[in-house]
Amino acid sequence: MRPVIITANWKMNTTPADAGPLAADIAKATDVANVTRIICPPFTNLAAVKDALGGTGVLVGAQNVHAEPKGAYTGEISADMLKGLVSWCIVGHSERRRDQGETDQQVGAKIVRLVEAGISPMMCCGELLEERESGRALSTVQAQVKAALETVQSAGNGLPSDLVIAYEPVWAIGTGKTATGADAAEMADAIRATVAELAGADYAAAVPVLYGGSVTADSFGEFIAEPAIDGALIGGAGLKPDQMSGIAATAAEAAAARAPA
Ligand code: PEP
Repeated sequence: MRPVIITANWKMNTTPADAGPLAADIAKATDVANVTRIICPPFTNLAAVKDALGGTGVLVGAQNVHAEPKGAYTGEISADMLKGLVSWCIVGHSERRRDQGETDQQVGAKIVRLVEAGISPMMCCGELLEERESGRALSTVQAQVKAALETVQSAGNGLPSDLVIAYEPVWAIGTGKTATGADAAEMADAIRATVAELAGADYAAAVPVLYGGSVTADSFGEFIAEPAIDGALIGGAGLKPDQMSGIAATAAEAAAARAPA
């Protein structure tokens, strides 16, 4: 059975002073059973958030990592630097693909670095609006997943057993627009079909696929009602304890309903 996972991506928000208290508030507001909860603050606030979350069961994630293990990359953060601070790391977020020109191959290399450091990877993928409107949503996302994961495989150690994939239609991120639950589920099936071609049906069936894109406490139910969707990657609402509380409650109901009798 795949876990139900809710992940807050705080993006470039919070400071070292306010991140810890906010994380503690969210931990309290989301204290439900059988849901994996992850908070991804900016790098500078990881230590404060880790301290604040001690004993709560909420895990800490980073929002990015460099594709190289170390070297002359001014201002960058390596997987080894994250060791001990985080158990998860987002890679391939569409804002980084857009702003830093990240490629699928770099996303794959980042996953390799995370595996080496013992950090679980959460890989984002998603189509642009024009790709969806021209009927290329599925093929675009499948190509992203294939290229990134082939890069991981070419490093020689197969795909990690803790890989999570977040499907985030780019046009839905921070816009207030969401995909439909049915469209997200169709994409999750397509993603797993691609993963199955690379690593087999059993591996693909065990990979959690999250939906991301303007998820709120009101909209989350539509996504987690889909058996193919295992949770959410949450931006704006991930900074709001009341929103996270509603999302966690719905996630807990789904986890209970999915548990074998
Ligand atoms: C995200 O940052 O991954 C995201 C989905 O943002 P939002 O929920 O604000 O659309």
